[in-house]
Amino acid sequence: MNFQKIRELDGEYLAKTYARYPVALVGGKNATLVDSEGKQYIDFGAGIAVNIFGANDEAWKAAVIEQLGKIQHVSNYYYAEPQVRLAEMLCNRTGAKRVFFSNSGGEANECALKAARKYSWMKYGEGRSRIVSLRDSFHGRTLFTLTATGQDEFHKYFGPFVPNVSYALPDLSDIKRAAGSDTCAVIIECVQGESGVSALPKAFVQELRTWCSANDVLLICDEVQCGNGRTGTLYAYEQYGITPDIVTTAKGLAGGLPIGACLFFERAQDAFSAGDHGSTFGGNPVSCAAAVNVISRLTDDFLLEVQGKAAYLRAKLKNFDGVKAVTGLGMMIGLEMDKDPKQVAAQCLEKGLLVLTAHRRLRLVPPLTITKTEMDEGLSILKEVLS
Ligand SMILES: *Cc1c(COP(=O)(O)O)cnc(C)c1O
Repeated sequence: MNFQKIRELDGEYLAKTYARYPVALVGGKNATLVDSEGKQYIDFGAGIAVNIFGANDEAWKAAVIEQLGKIQHVSNYYYAEPQVRLAEMLCNRTGAKRVFFSNSGGEANECALKAARKYSWMKYGEGRSRIVSLRDSFHGRTLFTLTATGQDEFHKYFGPFVPNVSYALPDLSDIKRAAGSDTCAVIIECVQGESGVSALPKAFVQELRTWCSANDVLLICDEVQCGNGRTGTLYAYEQYGITPDIVTTAKGLAGGLPIGACLFFERAQDAFSAGDHGSTFGGNPVSCAAAVNVISRLTDDFLLEVQGKAAYLRAKLKNFDGVKAVTGLGMMIGLEMDKDPKQVAAQCLEKGLLVLTAHRRLRLVPPLTITKTEMDEGLSILKEVLS
């Protein structure tokens, strides 16, 4: 199908939820993608931080195909080896005690928020159900996670929302104000993605950790976007010197297949019992096999390389004309610019570079396997567009 036909059918048959760029990506290799008309692009978006080994990675593909040759889905009424292998790996690498698998970031957060309410209910009874989230956060599109998303623009049309969710600034006194005396959990993204790629201040996160522990309030780190090697460590919270009570992750975890994971650390590990929560597709064996491949390859050496690539990109970007600030952490890069990010993204696309926007910033989240040649090619396009 050529692009005109694809666009025509999309306009006719798909729900109108997405404002799309005028491109249909059909294939590629690593961070070099190709569209339906044969045009090539350097990929600084990775399908929104999902394709962490880029397109068509041989070892990842082999792991997926091997599992497809066995069985594509098993019900959670039965045991499944890919699930236990992945869960063991995640626990060993993070110190978490238990994992619940779902299919997306929103579901991973939904699980975390439900678990926090249950944890508190079992210990203190009813009346301690409040969730505090940060202004400018993004936690998903289900009603609970949408409520927990601290951006008014997402809150049109869909009310009434889930009760007992409050918003605070990244400041401990404002957290205390929002929390009152009935809060069971605070949810944060160490690096806020959708709202502009902003890393939270380290001192705030550490103070918050101390306050949460002192008040038996669970600290949930939403690492859906910033997790899985994206920032140069396996999870971003490691760079904050804290251990959360619950970590949620998704996007890059399976390198391009749908998965979500909710990691319970010591305090929260017994929150759920049989029947409390579930998912038909959660822990799908193909997704889990893909994630085992991903996590096993995010070694210390690999993560060091990611840090090196991030430093390289950041050093170059800082000196580009029209760049006011380079934000975020590691390979999760925000660019504050003189120009309008939407226009910059459209011009980059035209010249063969895929970038994302996040509010008033450009967002760069390339595959972690991007080569120096691919980085340089992408940077030269961006430089041209910005100057
Ligand atoms: C993308 C994202 C989500 C939602 O994930 P979905 O897979 O789209 O449900 C939640 N939290 C953060 C931080 C995200 O970046």
